[in-house]
Amino acid sequence: MNGQNEYDVIVVGGGNAALCAALSAVENGARVLVLERAPEEERGGNTAYTEGLMRFAYNGTDDIVALSPDLSEEEKNSDFGVYTEDTFFDDMARVTEMRTDPDLCEILVRQSNSVMHWLREQGLKFLPQFGRQSFKVDGRYKFWGGATLAVVGGGRGMVDFLFSAAERRNVDIVYDAWVRDLIHDDDGVHGVIARVKGKTTHFHGKTVVLACGGFEANAEWRTRYLGPGWDLAKVRGTKYNTGDGLDMALRIGAQPRGNWSGCHAVGWERYADEYGSFEVIDDYERDSYPFSIMVNADGKRFLDEGADIRNYTYAKYGHIIMKQPQQFAWQLFDSSVTHLLRPEYRSRRVTKVIANTIEELAEKIDDVNTEQLIRTLKDFNASVKKDVPFDPTLKDGRCTVGLDQPKSNWAVGLENPPFEAFSVTCGITFTFGGLGITNDGQVRDVNMKPIKGLYAAGEMVGGLFYFNYPGSTGLTSGSVFGRLAGRSAAQAALGPA
Ligand SMILES: Cc1cc2nc3c(=O)[nH]c(=O)nc-3n(C[C@H](O)[C@H](O)[C@H](O)COP(=O)(O)OP(=O)(O)OC[C@H]3O[C@@H](n4cnc5c(N)ncnc54)[C@H](O)[C@@H]3O)c2cc1C
Repeated sequence: MNGQNEYDVIVVGGGNAALCAALSAVENGARVLVLERAPEEERGGNTAYTEGLMRFAYNGTDDIVALSPDLSEEEKNSDFGVYTEDTFFDDMARVTEMRTDPDLCEILVRQSNSVMHWLREQGLKFLPQFGRQSFKVDGRYKFWGGATLAVVGGGRGMVDFLFSAAERRNVDIVYDAWVRDLIHDDDGVHGVIARVKGKTTHFHGKTVVLACGGFEANAEWRTRYLGPGWDLAKVRGTKYNTGDGLDMALRIGAQPRGNWSGCHAVGWERYADEYGSFEVIDDYERDSYPFSIMVNADGKRFLDEGADIRNYTYAKYGHIIMKQPQQFAWQLFDSSVTHLLRPEYRSRRVTKVIANTIEELAEKIDDVNTEQLIRTLKDFNASVKKDVPFDPTLKDGRCTVGLDQPKSNWAVGLENPPFEAFSVTCGITFTFGGLGITNDGQVRDVNMKPIKGLYAAGEMVGGLFYFNYPGSTGLTSGSVFGRLAGRSAAQAALGPA
């Protein structure tokens, strides 16, 4: 045994949850090691691929300014609205169809504001996401959807800030450290076995925090747990989250918990690369679909594009696209709404068609039943309730009437050319199935007993999200449960003060 490889707390992973766990463990007096599977230039897991948007409860402008104090007077005058704890609870309950674990949800929501202040203490800075989470109404920014602040520098900024904070606090960090196993006996978990730059190495820790993501980047596990077809999904983020942490915990009897057949998945550029890459982070998103008509290979609509604002539908619509023939769809836009398209629709990395008539569009777009598409679009055009004004800043109630598959808001027919069409497939973000944990972040076994020395955080926590997810809750969850797991692991390692 190498004395250098002995720690109070070993953290597996190098994303937001792992680094919050590491910083929290240090804050509680522990000697901490972080083992990150990726090489340094690819560090940070899915966290590095985010926009850094975070959902948290706040009661108005003062709460926003407290977290983002450098705003100009004009910016402070924005309409930030309120996003109360009650609304956050309602959103979690509604989108998960009342399945979210009440204890975990309580921890998430109640600590969502204080964790933002804790992150600021670690060195993170926040700014309102004016571009993507607000509309300008009468010259003033009006925010919607509960995801108001983003970390300055986005996900990569967040990762850099957190790693810098960890380095300043003397956390040991090893990159290229692929953790494969837990060191475990009847008395609990005592460390991990990793392949460091290809060499098998034992690391001994009084406690271990697993924060090494879900299994979204593992095609075989996706097929096994999410179902047939999921092997074909594009992975939006890191290629390193292959379910290793879940696997090693399950092998020592940890409790699988939550929505193992569920995941966060979105509409994504049809010909995107197999995994995420930092060069094209945002270019593949296709989140302006609420203003579109979406059709599949049969030329038919298959979902309510305007059921709700983007933040409450995007994470479940990838799933529905996956189920369409040949796993793709087209988003069609009238020229009267194309000014609302997010900037990535204007990037070079799009599969796009432009046409001046419905017939020309139906001829031009690939792999779609032309006659049926023309019928679908004519029926749609005839069904729009045109006496209701179109208003992108709220759920406007401009719906269709008489269609088998209705559209509830923002219904706009294809009437003003040129029309634009974009092809999408399913992009998986992260998986929902995880481990059962106690309210202190300790992993439970299948007999519901805490496993001594083992903690979990981030995507590895099971029981929070089912079927769907309120946008921008992943980072908040990683920070809240990372901080919790790090504190508990340190306290267990060091014993009573
Ligand atoms: C494109 C994209 C955009 C997103 N945008 C947002 C957003 O704006 N807001 C939001 O809240 N959420 C967003 N999410 C979701 C968010 O990324 C996740 O919920 C969150 O980052 C998960 O944090 P984590 O620390 O649990 O996992 P990760 O950040 O994925 O970290 C997991 C870490 O574990 C490491 N690892 C894996 N296996 C091993 C192993 N065997 N040994 C050692 N290390 C290992 C990985 O290398 C990685 O460092 C987005 C996700 C994607 C993909």
